[in-house]
Amino acid sequence: MSKTKIKVDYSKCTAPVDCKQCLGVCQPAVLILTFTDKDFYNPKDWKIFPAFPGLCIGCNLCVDKCPENAITVSLK
Ligand code: SF4
Ligand code: SF4
Repeated sequence: MSKTKIKVDYSKCTAPVDCKQCLGVCQPAVLILTFTDKDFYNPKDWKIFPAFPGLCIGCNLCVDKCPENAITVSLK
């Protein structure tokens, strides 16, 4: 299986707590919604992070689903 590089543009993905659409389509659960260790109660301090890139199958579903075009998946 080819390895992929996953990038999230945080200037585009600004409300991940409300959106989370990428999480729902990623079957291997590569992406997580994680806390940036600032203000737990501030939704702006949460972000989408490709925590398990080794599991990515390069299906591009997250790229297609993201309404903000914030995700890029490319072959390494
Ligand atoms: S390309 Fe597919 S497997 Fe990889 S992170 Fe996106 S949805 Fe998940
Ligand atoms: S689908 Fe796009 S905008 Fe929505 S949480 Fe995921 S990366 Fe952010």
